[in-house]
Amino acid sequence: MEKILNYINGVLQEPSSKQYIDNYEPATGKVYSLVPDSDGQDVQLAVDAARGAFAEWSKTGLEERMMVMMKIADGIQSRFHEFVKAESKDNGKTIHLAAAMDIPRAISNFRFYASALQHFSSESHQTPGTAINYTLRQPVGIVGCISPWNLPLYLFSWKIAPALATGNCVVAKPSEITPYTAYLLSQVCIEAGLPKGVLNIVHGLGGKAGQAIIEHPEIKAISFTGGTETGKRIAATAAPMFKKLSLELGGKNPTLVFADCDFEETVAQTVRASFTNQGEICLCGSRVFVERSIYEKFKASFVARVKAMKVGDPNDSTTNLGAIVSKQHHEKVLGYIELARQEGGTILTGGNALKMDGRCSDGYFIAPTVIEGLDYNCRTQQEEIFGPVATLTPFDTEEEALTMANSVKYGLASSIWTNDLKRAHRVAEKIESGIVWINCWLLRDLRTPFGGVKASGVGREGGFEAMKFFTEAKNICIKS
Ligand code: NDP
Repeated sequence: MEKILNYINGVLQEPSSKQYIDNYEPATGKVYSLVPDSDGQDVQLAVDAARGAFAEWSKTGLEERMMVMMKIADGIQSRFHEFVKAESKDNGKTIHLAAAMDIPRAISNFRFYASALQHFSSESHQTPGTAINYTLRQPVGIVGCISPWNLPLYLFSWKIAPALATGNCVVAKPSEITPYTAYLLSQVCIEAGLPKGVLNIVHGLGGKAGQAIIEHPEIKAISFTGGTETGKRIAATAAPMFKKLSLELGGKNPTLVFADCDFEETVAQTVRASFTNQGEICLCGSRVFVERSIYEKFKASFVARVKAMKVGDPNDSTTNLGAIVSKQHHEKVLGYIELARQEGGTILTGGNALKMDGRCSDGYFIAPTVIEGLDYNCRTQQEEIFGPVATLTPFDTEEEALTMANSVKYGLASSIWTNDLKRAHRVAEKIESGIVWINCWLLRDLRTPFGGVKASGVGREGGFEAMKFFTEAKNICIKS
């Protein structure tokens, strides 16, 4: 059985404990590799390595830093199919999606921040006749990056790239459920000549390796993406230590469909927004609110499209939805569908686990599920399910749509579908979310701020926001 290894001080190595955790392929339900069960000892080795590398890396010339990051991007590109296959196998997502989204976006994260570091500048403020202030943006030092299982390399690199670009040394932990592409990344970093200790990847459980990263006094900033409950625990540990914290947490995102939308395009895109990656994207629109005058027509068209989606082997190029990431998550999603039934919801399509033939007969599959007839403030409509489940709810007025959209504790993303420009602006301003898409979903521009409000997190990633997070501003005032 293949063993994944930690990447510490430039070397691939076993965990100190020599203990491993089973790594499952969700599409088959079978163990296919072993993940290090790292602990505080491994995190300490990683911190020692990062400390040793920091003095040099933080002083490395911008062009040199850019070149090595570009080489990492090229290294992923040159092993593109290997990365795509690994991501699909580890997570259960389709090969097609990994090739179209996850791996290209991971590559562009490195390219973007490699070039951004050359353009990142700091401010100066003149007080006429009195003084001039200039602000240095210095690297924080050793930083921790912890990422979830849904977009494994994509989100891992989204943190690591800006941290490295700004001169920090990193101790990173991918989700133990999807560690494989992080392991491939460590191989690429060695091939690219990234100096030893600059990036250290420690694999293992959140409560053990992750917690050791959070608690380590020399790790000065934590960039975390994951569930809201985990985020709360992390903040409880890190805040009293005065660590910088960026928390990208859960969502329960509303999709608002008005009667004057482009109907066919809206149906197609809102189905995509609900079910891409089996609904396991923090940005998925899982609550669809539709203006009553088109509700029945929209419902018929939406459900027909969902019924036509093929669930199956992620390796099959005709598959639309692959496997759910783990047995435990599979059970959680099915539990929510059961809850929806108990809360009086009507299942319009799906609502059950699916059994495949052949290779995938023990895999974790769920039919894409659409539910209507639920009160907007019941648990199914309030709690994050993070699976292929969408609810449909009619509304009569803009105010009512906004009340329902804003009723959840989360505030990550939303989408608004209308041809009325004034309404689009009005609703976008009033909706409680960090990201609003109008007549689109998941369009990405790497320069924009990314993050949520309310229980969806604290801080922003993306563009210069991430570079600001990974640096400390030091203001210097000179009397003139
Ligand atoms: P978790 O919160 O369970 O885990 C996220 C990461 O944190 C994993 O690497 C996990 O390790 C680790 N972890 C768990 N406990 C601790 C701890 N005590 N200390 C340090 N690290 C810990 O989230 P999931 O992996 O289940 O991901 C799904 C969640 O992520 C959803 O809620 C989703 O909405 C959210 N998400 C948010 C995004 C955003 O940008 N806002 C984007 C994508 C997802 P391990 O895997 O070993 O438990």
